[in-house]
Amino acid sequence: MIEEFFNMKLPVDEHLILKRNRFLPPTQELSGKRISIVTGIHGDEIEGQYVCYLLAKWLNENPDKIKGIIDIYPAMNPMGIDSITRSFPFYDVDLNRTFPGNISEFLPGQVANAIVEAIKGSDYAIDIHSSNIFLRELPQVRISKSNAKELVPLAKKMGIDFIWVHDAVTVLESTFSHTMNTLGTKTLVVEMGVGMRITKEYGENLTEGILNLMTLLNIIDRPLSPTKSAFASTINSEVHFINSPCAGVFIPTLEHNVEVKKGEKLGMIIDPLLGEISATLLSPCNGLLFTIREYPVVYEGSLIARILEDNKEEKV
Ligand SMILES: [Zn+2]
Repeated sequence: MIEEFFNMKLPVDEHLILKRNRFLPPTQELSGKRISIVTGIHGDEIEGQYVCYLLAKWLNENPDKIKGIIDIYPAMNPMGIDSITRSFPFYDVDLNRTFPGNISEFLPGQVANAIVEAIKGSDYAIDIHSSNIFLRELPQVRISKSNAKELVPLAKKMGIDFIWVHDAVTVLESTFSHTMNTLGTKTLVVEMGVGMRITKEYGENLTEGILNLMTLLNIIDRPLSPTKSAFASTINSEVHFINSPCAGVFIPTLEHNVEVKKGEKLGMIIDPLLGEISATLLSPCNGLLFTIREYPVVYEGSLIARILEDNKEEKV
């Protein structure tokens, strides 16, 4: 059932409309919970579109398996998606720094408010992001330390590659996930892939993970399919950031999603004018390479990679 939850008149008789697709049990008798699948808050992050499509397709084909309410929100920033813009067009603000918003605020704040009002009351929400055009991310759930106790067990049910528990920073308080978690909707943020692209394999795996999660939460009735078990990160210090020591063009040596060894070559920064290698980047630890630079041009300090240190030996 397609439902409009925001409709604002634009100057020349056009409308900014936000929609969701609501799936209910055929008998209207709810035995399960309510979950909201959200994406497109950043207009240049497209990976979630494929996940919404796959989920809606499965739900269309299996109406008799639905036990709870499933709401799919593919386009939270529709003008951003239409114009390949990360932020909210014309206002140049990050919609994910505008929550919870208010009906009396500027347009992005009104949109944020409408999103909160529509999703409020859901037991769970999943907010799918796809990094940016510069970095490629292995599918991961990011959870702030303050919510780790409730959200890590939930994230594990999705069988995603890994869970990054990080220290909360002040700016995150204006995000969709922080607002919804505060209002009692357990909200997971997924980051995967790269901006402006769709990685089919990631979308298919995440869809399986979300279907498994919904089964375990009594929202749908479906046999569980095998998924990965997550590498969990519990403290920020286990994640190493590798930044470029100089400007140049980054040429990776390793594929994404690999276990790296301490001292292994990650890639090099080349100087096309001089025909020289300006720097060689080595892994500082053994671990999982979960972020890798996708856009080659770098400056001093640009993020090249993130590695989750494997502490197995230290724990023994
Ligand atoms: Zn995003």
